Amino acid sequence: MHTNNSLIEPIMIIVMDKNATKEMVDHVIQIVKDHDLIPEPSYGTTRIVIGVLGDRSKLREGNIARLPGVKEILLVSKPYKRVSREFQSESTLVKINDDVIFGDNKPVIIAGPCGVESKEQIRTIAKGVKELGADMLRGGAFKPRTSPYSFQGMGADGLKLLKEVGDEFGLPIVSECVSTEDLGVFEKYADMIQIGARNMQNFDLITKVARLGKPVLLKRGMSATVDEFMFAAEYILNEGNKNLVLCERGIRTFEQSTRNILDLNSMALIKQVSHLPIIVDPSHAAGRYDLVTPLARAGLAAGADGIIVEVHNKPDEALSDGKQSLTLESFAEFMKDAPKYHHYHG
Ligand code: PEP
Ligand code: MN
Repeated sequence: MHTNNSLIEPIMIIVMDKNATKEMVDHVIQIVKDHDLIPEPSYGTTRIVIGVLGDRSKLREGNIARLPGVKEILLVSKPYKRVSREFQSESTLVKINDDVIFGDNKPVIIAGPCGVESKEQIRTIAKGVKELGADMLRGGAFKPRTSPYSFQGMGADGLKLLKEVGDEFGLPIVSECVSTEDLGVFEKYADMIQIGARNMQNFDLITKVARLGKPVLLKRGMSATVDEFMFAAEYILNEGNKNLVLCERGIRTFEQSTRNILDLNSMALIKQVSHLPIIVDPSHAAGRYDLVTPLARAGLAAGADGIIVEVHNKPDEALSDGKQSLTLESFAEFMKDAPKYHHYHG
């Protein structure tokens, strides 16, 4: 039979049309072989199906789908591999500086402003969130803004400041990298590198960030399907970087009354599909501060391994995302409440 090669697995079923001729069936079988795959035809009275075994990476199903006599193609296994629980059944734990663990039995709380604006601002927020129990500090230094006229971030100076303040208060930092030009400063200063929703499918950026070997926080694109999200994660794991945490941050739908919709369906599904830790961002999902706590509760109850939440000392003066930022006072209330909803709690 087949060789003892782990890459040989059932990957596809080709359903032939009822009217397909023997020549058509033989042609499909030959093309499957030409792809270095193994065809296993079953001849029914009315229909022929061809099972295909082999290495998924050898398959280009689009080539086969258009052959004469092919009615339908059914994929047996998910086309991504390293991210999937089929590949690795135990959940991955991602550690940041040995202090913080994603995927363990305690939710990780990342808090901080949307953007680093000044030393005074980031210090006040870092001190406040640390005292209230946050595990990590967030803050954008390079901001991917929808409008070119909006605050674009402090750049490398902002990242250095974030690191300096994070170190002062014992908080590992996470910040978004938007360009391969900035890889050097991220390598030097970031404890974890965020890939933002707008760059989830920027494959050049994500592979180069992955190669730095630092922990990566990959946010789901606002219009990305679960499969597209998993493929983006696969790019990162393929670079040999296993320190990957996913983030559900809300998707776009017909509903316009909130900024986005926190897609907890997909989050719960991803917990089954993948072994990677996943956290929830209620701030960008809601777009308004008064929905942040209920969304965080729901995310943790549905299986999230943590929360990333925007907190500002003066949200009414924030240079970005003030509307969705918690104050330090409301973050204090949040910390008394939301972590209790973590699925492992009690
Ligand atoms: C952010 O975290 O501030 C941000 C820009 O997030 P997203 O990429 O999810 O919009
Ligand atoms: Mn923001």
